[in-house]
Amino acid sequence: MYGNMMFQPLLISGLIEHAQTYHADTAIILKNTNGTITETTWGDIAQNSKRFANYLKTLNLAASDRVATIAWNNHRHLETWYAVSGSGLICHTINPRLFPEQLSFIINDADDQVLIFDKTFVNLVLSIKDSIPQVKQFICLDAYDADIAQIFPDIQFYDDLIQPQSEQFEWAKLDENSASSLCYTSGTTGNPKGVLYSHRSTVLHSYASCLPDSFCLSANDRVLPVVPMFHVNAWGTPYAAAMVGASLVLPGPMLDGTSLVNLIDDFQVTTALGVPTIWQGLLNAAQTLGSQLSSLKRNVVGGAACPPSMIKTFKEKYQCETIHAWGMTETSPMGVINQLKAKHAQLDDAAQDQLRLSQGRPPYGVQLRLCEQENGTTEIARDGRSVGNLQIKGHWIVDTYFGQDRTALTTDGWFDTGDIATLDQDGYMNIADRSKDLIKSGGEWISSVELENIAIAHPDIDMVAVIAATHLKWDERPVLIAKKSAHGAVTEQDLLDYYHNKIAKWQIPDKVIFVDAIPIGGTGKILKKDLREMYGSVLLETE
Ligand code: ADP
Repeated sequence: MYGNMMFQPLLISGLIEHAQTYHADTAIILKNTNGTITETTWGDIAQNSKRFANYLKTLNLAASDRVATIAWNNHRHLETWYAVSGSGLICHTINPRLFPEQLSFIINDADDQVLIFDKTFVNLVLSIKDSIPQVKQFICLDAYDADIAQIFPDIQFYDDLIQPQSEQFEWAKLDENSASSLCYTSGTTGNPKGVLYSHRSTVLHSYASCLPDSFCLSANDRVLPVVPMFHVNAWGTPYAAAMVGASLVLPGPMLDGTSLVNLIDDFQVTTALGVPTIWQGLLNAAQTLGSQLSSLKRNVVGGAACPPSMIKTFKEKYQCETIHAWGMTETSPMGVINQLKAKHAQLDDAAQDQLRLSQGRPPYGVQLRLCEQENGTTEIARDGRSVGNLQIKGHWIVDTYFGQDRTALTTDGWFDTGDIATLDQDGYMNIADRSKDLIKSGGEWISSVELENIAIAHPDIDMVAVIAATHLKWDERPVLIAKKSAHGAVTEQDLLDYYHNKIAKWQIPDKVIFVDAIPIGGTGKILKKDLREMYGSVLLETE
């Protein structure tokens, strides 16, 4: 027997309809590429997305055709998202920082029919245009620009396209399991693979991310997604914000510390989300500018391990709660979030700080387990100590990669994340490392994350990465690559001494290499693969 309740499919169009109906005057603020600020509202975003949906209808695309975007976090980009998914098409967000060959590979793999891009990417798109012949329409996300029109003959301009269109549009009536958007893994560890989200998975993920024990979003918040919309849909914040009617501040391309501090202070941002390298830049800028970041209640840090020293600085200096979270493209991305429980209130500060270092615990909708082998099915203890291959399952977790027939899951239906972690009885998870980054020294494992967390706490250090270098006797040994802060005078020996009494002696890196810059990938993460290529043999040379 079925229950007697209404059935309504969980659709992305429902989110923008809600924002338009109940939060029409809530502000959406954005920084344009030229540095100027535009203020708009959820009401305007909804109207323009309907105008663009009317335009898309004129293209006679087939259901589930892919429409790609190469754009920063801005209002027009947001409008296209809702227009594309709401029309029954698939919004494919592309990372502009990929190499041109990777861009063409992804656009061809996805068979994108329309390409929408920010003005800043005109030359990039021109450079790959001949290698993406199936793209029928090129749309510049801006007002008409005669110079661009001259160098790009068949280009269309977004503002011209939507201007004559009606702001009335009936969203497509879709099965909630229809595909809504497509995002490729950033390829930090291999070839990019497409993850195809559904309307249902996106809406459920939005519900879960707004929960108090998740990102805790509400109509009282002003949210700054520093994480780009092309990086796992800005962690779903543009959907979650519409769901609760939160105000958004979209930073455009300027993700440097000073720009972000100014945005936070000028527009009283309450919640900001980004990867650790972003926060390092922001903390440096806040110190230089003398900002107290007084409106910022919480910042969500994910995408890579959050150093404990960062959590401490945000808490002690800025009274800002740092929420550590873990996820991946394949998990929409929210997998676990670190919020404490009532029973932890009685713990002293040191014990609470210790708990806060974990990546967090799963919200309803996600389950975790550890297995002995990668893609294995033999579970190991959730005792907070045993280390194993982290597997995940849930409503917003990938089943099959785009364009592949074979499921990406284990024989009993779990997704192996490629991360090595511990889990405790409450579900608090600690990532030891990515399986590819672990250092295998003489049969023992050393966590690169743990070594990085120690070094980054040194006051003279700005950024670090620990890699496995090949070693004749031990197979691999840790090498620390470090970038000093502006006036840092620390020496190699100082840094090695800094590890004493913080970690077992045999885990201390064999060498420190100071560099002027550490390579960062398209999503702001340190490119350890590149560092391994550059310095992986350094211990052989010195022997
Ligand atoms: P890519 O795999 O190309 O880097 P993703 O953005 O999907 O692209 O990265 C997911 C991976 O990032 C995870 O599998 C994990 O290794 C790492 N990661 C994400 N969040 C954290 C975190 N809080 N701590 C440590 N590692 C993290």
